[in-house]
Amino acid sequence: MTVKTPSQKSQLKRYEESIAQDGLRLTRQRKHVYEVLLGRQDHPTAMEVFLRAKPEMETLSLATVYNVLETLADRGLVRKVHLDSGSTRYCANNSKHGHFTCTQCGGVMDVPLLPGAELEKLHQLPRGYTVTTQEVSLRGLCADCRKK
Ligand SMILES: [Zn+2]
Ligand SMILES: [Zn+2]
Repeated sequence: MTVKTPSQKSQLKRYEESIAQDGLRLTRQRKHVYEVLLGRQDHPTAMEVFLRAKPEMETLSLATVYNVLETLADRGLVRKVHLDSGSTRYCANNSKHGHFTCTQCGGVMDVPLLPGAELEKLHQLPRGYTVTTQEVSLRGLCADCRKK
């Protein structure tokens, strides 16, 4: 698996710079795991990332995959997504978006926010509260499943 698009390359570059500040290097394993995640943005679990990354890197362990995913999440390069009672999923899309889960096929898609949408204004926050993170999670049927 190789990363081709300019935006994916710049994301790898940001990761490299970010971990360099902690004296870490962008090792082959770190790079490979992030590339796998960037390569197919369907919100895989850590186990799925591991299964995709393993064939090209025999020495890779599940613990390493967890470790790399944690460093990516800590740096805000990857979002942890909790959609149901299942495992944590990982999202490498850095733009503002919500998630749409199809209740039929289980697919998880990114849905961009409308330009200028301000989610904070949709809710009445108690006095003195402030929002630091927001997750939009929509559930329904995707176009394919709706046709069936
Ligand atoms: Zn996403
Ligand atoms: Zn579906």
